Amino acid sequence: MKSVKENLISIQHNVDRALKVAGRNPQSLNLIAVTKQVTIERTKEVLQNELLHIGENRPEGLLAKYDAIGNEATWHYIGSLQTRKVRQVINNIDYLHSLDRLSLAEEIEKRAEQPVKCFVQVNVSEEEAKHGLSTADAIAFIENLHDFSKIQVVGLMTMAPNTDDEAIIRATFKGLKKLQQQVAALKLPFAPCEELSMGMSNDYEIAIEEGATFVRIGTALVGDEGSVS
Ligand SMILES: *Cc1c(COP(=O)(O)O)cnc(C)c1O
Repeated sequence: MKSVKENLISIQHNVDRALKVAGRNPQSLNLIAVTKQVTIERTKEVLQNELLHIGENRPEGLLAKYDAIGNEATWHYIGSLQTRKVRQVINNIDYLHSLDRLSLAEEIEKRAEQPVKCFVQVNVSEEEAKHGLSTADAIAFIENLHDFSKIQVVGLMTMAPNTDDEAIIRATFKGLKKLQQQVAALKLPFAPCEELSMGMSNDYEIAIEEGATFVRIGTALVGDEGSVS
């Protein structure tokens, strides 16, 4: 397996190119290292490369790594979160990327000690198997969050279809950006909605070209050591 450093050099090269194509400032992009398939050791290697955003998609994985690393990192919960598991993780994370239903918002409101920065997850491509609100429902959902003192909608998140068709991937990211601009224009105090969480190992360059401010990269950066937590 290649070192994180080696992988990071080629990712950084691609990131820089995509930022340049889009005429963007490098500071406008955050790289989240998705460590769900690697060990605590490998996660520490990520931190040694000055990557401080860590993403996990299961409570067990998040807590194991949080226990070993603590507040040195910024913690992102990127997977779908069961309502009954909210209390386990909500006070250990800095960002939740998968707010997709009112029952989840209600549980967060009950369990969180501080406001939580949330991305509302949108199923832009309308694939059956994917979590997230439809584009048509997203704005009404966000407007309904005004009474929740523990929820701050910092942005929108999506996953593109798993396809080689770049046009489909690009259209998905463009759709999320358009929706984000619509929400931001509402100027809701609880939903500034300035961020876009989109792009993974296979499509982060397209996502950056289309305005991603957080990319979530797993296998291309840290590899895959199987399901560990
Ligand atoms: C696993 C995962 C990623 C990272 O996927 P890679 O293809 O390994 O980069 C990003 N986002 C979410 C929501 C994930 O579950």
